[in-house]
Amino acid sequence: MKIDVLTLFPEMFDGVFGASILGKAKEKGIVELAAVNFREYANNKHNTVDDYPYGGGGGMVLKAEPVFAAVEDLMQEAAEGGRKPRVILMCPQGEPFTQKKAEELSQEEHLVLICGHYEGYDERIRQYLVTDELSIGDYVLTGGEIPAMTVIDSVVRLLPGVLGNETSAVTDSYSTGLLEYPHYTRPAVFRDWEVPEVLLSGHHSRIEAWRREQSLLRTFNRRPDLLSSAELTEKERKWLESLPLQLEEEGAAQDDGNK
Ligand code: SAM
Repeated sequence: MKIDVLTLFPEMFDGVFGASILGKAKEKGIVELAAVNFREYANNKHNTVDDYPYGGGGGMVLKAEPVFAAVEDLMQEAAEGGRKPRVILMCPQGEPFTQKKAEELSQEEHLVLICGHYEGYDERIRQYLVTDELSIGDYVLTGGEIPAMTVIDSVVRLLPGVLGNETSAVTDSYSTGLLEYPHYTRPAVFRDWEVPEVLLSGHHSRIEAWRREQSLLRTFNRRPDLLSSAELTEKERKWLESLPLQLEEEGAAQDDGNK
């Protein structure tokens, strides 16, 4: 996969693209990551990329010309390589970014992410250039760089060969439509707090059942909104309907097998 980010602050990506899982994915050649400064595409002598809004009001607006020129340059290069990139505008008014969207984007060959700044974009960028608009949440940041990093990180970790253990992303929260079950590691007793007995049993089907139940309970307690679209068996749905409004996750862990 190739990911290009159009930004006025390419240096912000140095650390993120070079470290940890993303750095390794780049090293292994699984993903090609580039931060492109679209100021280089400004066609005026001061390299200006923003201007005052028509109609007045506070804040500056990103001009259409440099953003179109930078994207079209990348599109031409992509077409020569037989690729057709998705062009994604980072924007608090966009479609909410979810794990499902990350999975969808991880199937693409080439992504181009556009990071805004200032008050906003010239609307023609939104109307005539991009294929998607994505928001990372209902709050406003100063620029699209941190949102773009969020999208890139969550997409790249899904690419085959990026995570050491291929199955670990499969059970992640949201991948299954539910929140993930709790994890424990050694020691078995820490300050008198014990690891649930079932996890030490070595009994795989009991462990699976416990994890599924914990996952359901955790989602029931913390994000009940997810349950309506999660894949549940009839038995699980009935069991959830029978629960009181809030249930102790650990308490229910003790009576596994009851559902
Ligand atoms: N005036 C704009 C509005 O009300 O929608 C907000 C502009 S914001 C200060 C500047 C830039 O930061 C945006 O163009 C976008 O690229 C980025 N940004 C801010 N919050 C974001 C969010 N929640 N998700 C994605 N991008 C965001």
